[in-house]
Amino acid sequence: MPFDFDQIVEHTGDDDCAACRAQDITAAFLMPAVSAWEISHNLPRFSLAMHGASGLLGVMLEEGVERSEIETALSQLLDDIERQIEEDKVLGGPPQGSA
Ligand SMILES: [Zn+2]
Repeated sequence: MPFDFDQIVEHTGDDDCAACRAQDITAAFLMPAVSAWEISHNLPRFSLAMHGASGLLGVMLEEGVERSEIETALSQLLDDIERQIEEDKVLGGPPQGSA
């Protein structure tokens, strides 16, 4: 399979880190837009977030990526996010958006 999850999920620790750049774009543009769309379309909170995320992951399934690999990578990302939330709590700062 010509696709490497580690390349997009794991941090490289430099300025070119794909994981950091993708997280930054998501937090700056995607999360506020999804929230605004939910409100403007009178949809329950998180409805677009869940369907959007699963729809995007569905594109990966369509392209032949194994579901188990997606689930493993997603679990790893959620672990990272939970760890970040806990760190932010310890530091006393407000969480950024929902991540
Ligand atoms: Zn990074």
